[in-house]
Amino acid sequence: MSKFELVPTSKGKQYLFFEKQFFYKLKPTDQNGITIWRCRLYYDKDIRCKILLRSNNEGEVVSLNGQHDHFEKDVNIVEPLMKNVVQQIKEKLNSARAPLKKTFEQTLNN
Ligand SMILES: [Zn+2]
Repeated sequence: MSKFELVPTSKGKQYLFFEKQFFYKLKPTDQNGITIWRCRLYYDKDIRCKILLRSNNEGEVVSLNGQHDHFEKDVNIVEPLMKNVVQQIKEKLNSARAPLKKTFEQTLNN
């Protein structure tokens, strides 16, 4: 089974990142621990990608119902990394008691 990565979005939700594509959660996790995700580019009016992905509670991709046909829009690997960094900075700022400057330095030096 293939592993995926969860990436925080700016809206406090999560994207699933798998094989260079982002997916957003289509339905909440069911009683069997299966979550259904849809390709983010479903929202791109020129693409309307309808690929669905199922994941389980072990962090594995269970199934993919087809292949994306928009490889020219592959996600740059920097994008999920940046989203994670931004989220980490936000979390540190939220819980910060130390002066902000120190918080930033700690985050950037990690
Ligand atoms: Zn797609």
